[in-house]
Amino acid sequence: MATNDYESGLKMMEELTTDAQQIQDQLLGEILSKNAETEYLHGFLHGQTDKQLFKKNVPIVTYEHLKPYIDRIANGEASSDILLVEPLTGFSLSSGTSGGLPKLIPTTAENAHIAATFNKLYRSVMIKYFGDINQAGKRMELMFAKPEVETPSGLKASAVSTRAFKGSGFKAILPKLYTSPFETIFCPDTKQSMYCQILFGLIRRDEVVMIGSIFASTVVRSIKFLENNWKELCSNIKTGQISEWITDSDCRNAASLILKPNLELADLIEDVCSCKSWERIIRKLWPKTKYIGTVCTGAMLQYTAELEFYCGGLPLVSGFYACSEGAIGINLEPLCKPSDVCYTFLPNTVYYEFLSIKEDCVTDSQNQVQLNAMSHHEDTGPVDLVNVKLGQCYEVLVTSSMGLYRYRVGDIIKVTGFHNNTPQFQFVGRQNVALGVDMERTSEADILKAVAEAKALLNPLGLILTEYTSYGDTSSTPGHYVIFWEIKPKEGNNNNKNGKELDPKVMEECCSKMEDSLHFTYRMYRKENMIAALEIRVVKQGTFEALLDYFVSKGASLSQYKTPSCIKSKEALSILDSRVTAKFFSPRTPIQDN
Ligand code: AMP
Repeated sequence: MATNDYESGLKMMEELTTDAQQIQDQLLGEILSKNAETEYLHGFLHGQTDKQLFKKNVPIVTYEHLKPYIDRIANGEASSDILLVEPLTGFSLSSGTSGGLPKLIPTTAENAHIAATFNKLYRSVMIKYFGDINQAGKRMELMFAKPEVETPSGLKASAVSTRAFKGSGFKAILPKLYTSPFETIFCPDTKQSMYCQILFGLIRRDEVVMIGSIFASTVVRSIKFLENNWKELCSNIKTGQISEWITDSDCRNAASLILKPNLELADLIEDVCSCKSWERIIRKLWPKTKYIGTVCTGAMLQYTAELEFYCGGLPLVSGFYACSEGAIGINLEPLCKPSDVCYTFLPNTVYYEFLSIKEDCVTDSQNQVQLNAMSHHEDTGPVDLVNVKLGQCYEVLVTSSMGLYRYRVGDIIKVTGFHNNTPQFQFVGRQNVALGVDMERTSEADILKAVAEAKALLNPLGLILTEYTSYGDTSSTPGHYVIFWEIKPKEGNNNNKNGKELDPKVMEECCSKMEDSLHFTYRMYRKENMIAALEIRVVKQGTFEALLDYFVSKGASLSQYKTPSCIKSKEALSILDSRVTAKFFSPRTPIQDN
């Protein structure tokens, strides 16, 4: 991007955020007038396009409500008669986020146009803070394409990230700007893909100026993969031969072009990786890295401590907030701490409305929002983008050119400020990702906060909690919360620390600490014995990898995968349960508020 392009991007950002209301109204007007005669909208608006009528008549819906319409399109009926007039170019497969199945979201050419504008704005902000990294070197971004699925209509469905990787523009810039060859991104075997992408990142370590992946969990996973495989990777670099188990012929061909025997490089990497502590490992292996570009907010906050340990002070940049349903917000202060990140919503991508959340949003000492139960809304109707209130939490609704009308994205956000006339939001968590064994409801953010407080007790023991998830066990009465923990030692990667060697006292205190940190209703129910003691089940190292493999086999895109905060599926539960090495229960009732 030339200097004047990036300046024009920043200027555009100022204009958009200044004229937010007008842009939003215009966007809604365009969407309604284009699609007023579709079966869906006509049923509510009878051909009219008035904003007030839209708000009065068109229902607020979830995916399940639109699904029958979308399924008809996927099965071959004309989309223009049903939901949206603009011709479809395919469907996005949303990752289904926390626990659900992938959703099909219609996509159009307009979509690609909106995404291009979003990228331009995002890049402009990044250039302002980090310079043009395209000129400085290469990005080592871990990217995983997922095979497209053909719907009966002949239209293809693919993850948004896969569609981006497939674009001709991306393919053209890939060799110059990224360390991963195209073939490795498209390798259907994710283990081979990961191995090769790390191998190429190591070979090109001197050129790497940025490391990242869409979500922080993938960056952490790749470092763990390196911990387990660095000896083999070094041996490949030493001999110039890729391991036999890399059977994907495209990956092997790509390797044959790049991999040459390099004893010096192999020795250097071996030296770094055989250090007792992996603290600052990213800086040591890739010394020119300027920042780690990856989403660290929401459920991804749990990975930041580990990432900070590995990257030794490099900025962790959560650049944007986007989903299959729309490109939503950009972080205008990429150097701020992950816990302080807020996203400025772009008024030109989708039309937003915000359903205010009834529960009090409390900000704790780490500036983290916690919501006790997120399923209740204020009785007032949803508000427009420019009318949200500072400090208030909302659920996001979008109306878009993709045939989504007053659609609940399922994310909860909190207003933290304004940029010109446009609000900025902190990402709080997913709606409806709740644990509950009685009448209480515990949100994703509640679990995250409780785990954060409890895992601090592992620090003095030199242990790190690498992954967690939760489950509401009602197989006995009263039911209780089960939190699965995967733990590893901070230093020395060969010394597997599984449940057996853990100090039961510390682990029980972790259980109690979690209970102390949970919300009032939970603690009250616990005291009254309506909920039994919280349990931590420690699982073998590699368990969450197996969980990921399971979700990927069920259709999740690896690039967009997020470990579910709460397990609902029986199969997923049995994967976790079959790898449990120790169980610990809270020995006391939680501390009650005065
Ligand atoms: P997908 O369904 O695969 O399109 O994933 C989109 C979902 O990922 C969003 O609805 C959010 O729940 C989550 N997500 C996306 N960007 C962020 C972000 N910056 N911070 C936290 N969560 C995010």
